[in-house]
Amino acid sequence: MLNKKSVDDINVKGKRVLVRCDFNVPLIDGKITDENRLVAALPTIKKLIADGGKVILCSHLGKPKGQPVPELSLAPVAVRLSELLGQEVKFAADPEVVGPNAKAAVEAMQDGDVILLENTRYRAEETKNEDAFSKDLASLCDVFVNDAFGTAHRAHCSNVGVTKYVDTAVVGYLMQKEIDFLGNAVNNPTRPFVAILGGAKVSSKISVIENLLDKVDTLIIGGGMAYTFAKSQGGKIGISLCEDDYLEYAANMLKKAEEKGVKLLLPVDNRIGDEFSNDANIKIVPTGEIPDGWEGMDIGPETEKIFADAVKDAKTVVWNGPMGCFEMPNFAHGTEAVAQALAETDAVTIIGGGDSAAAVNQLGYGDKMTHISTGGGASLEFLEGKELPGVAAANDK
Ligand code: AMP
Repeated sequence: MLNKKSVDDINVKGKRVLVRCDFNVPLIDGKITDENRLVAALPTIKKLIADGGKVILCSHLGKPKGQPVPELSLAPVAVRLSELLGQEVKFAADPEVVGPNAKAAVEAMQDGDVILLENTRYRAEETKNEDAFSKDLASLCDVFVNDAFGTAHRAHCSNVGVTKYVDTAVVGYLMQKEIDFLGNAVNNPTRPFVAILGGAKVSSKISVIENLLDKVDTLIIGGGMAYTFAKSQGGKIGISLCEDDYLEYAANMLKKAEEKGVKLLLPVDNRIGDEFSNDANIKIVPTGEIPDGWEGMDIGPETEKIFADAVKDAKTVVWNGPMGCFEMPNFAHGTEAVAQALAETDAVTIIGGGDSAAAVNQLGYGDKMTHISTGGGASLEFLEGKELPGVAAANDK
């Protein structure tokens, strides 16, 4: 069980607190088009202000590749954050991120003030976790708070390196929530524990499948991945997505599940198309009977029922990856059915970030889920049972 110190375990009165946030928001012509990440950061920021800290925010934005790129400045974020907080968030414009301007801005801070540093990826050292920038960041603060789950699977200066040079490193409320839900679900689940995996490729989910087979009662596999499993059992899959290098692996996983007493559910029918397009002609056929020239693009209606039934009596459900090509409305039925089943079950429902989170939100089921992870890659690595560097770097309780 992960037990990391959080902002509730420290006293920041009069202290300079560097907070690593995830302000990697979509920007079009300098306008923020989705401010969810800003809103999600507010509880930690408000808490630190209320406790009388000097709050220094930092984040990356996009990929400026180690140099100042004006279009990727965090300046618009400071403006919008000021409005959301109802208090000025001073932007410490500085091409070096921690240069003379930033240092002077921190020097002038009063208790309860908030400033935002420039895009941490303006510095080439950031993504290489090199000491020079880690030390620069550490020189600005007495306490470090990491509230950026989306980058927790990466070891960069602003989430990991900096902690080498700051004695007190804790997690913020957002991180704490991710650790509590994802960590608890995987390591200490209330049973029955059902995991649903989908998405394009078996190869990208191997470690997740292996880790989960040791933990779950039922493993559901849908999406493009399922066709490699179907072919491994001698089924006809037409021109469906398939990784021939993983046929043996898929067959072994089926055996392993049986040995471990894990119920492994695969699609029994499929929506297939005669071209990879929303306008394709569509047929529904049993698994293993896809004609030549046709492609499996979604799970079929019978499978939807079986998968929905499997989550009905579950106590914990984790979902990562769509059941089909959900970007095309005609092949989004399976993903919608799973989202609906999760919305209706009494189980604790945890949605891995990325496509499944987007699908759940798009369908309006967001508030019906117990937890929707804010990190795609990070939540997947959590499900793989890996230790995330950004989490590991925080002080233990
Ligand atoms: P991943 O990033 O591995 O979670 O994969 C997500 C992608 O898988 C989405 O873009 C889906 O459109 C795609 N996908 C899901 N099912 C299929 C399928 N049956 N055939 C092709 N692509 C699929």
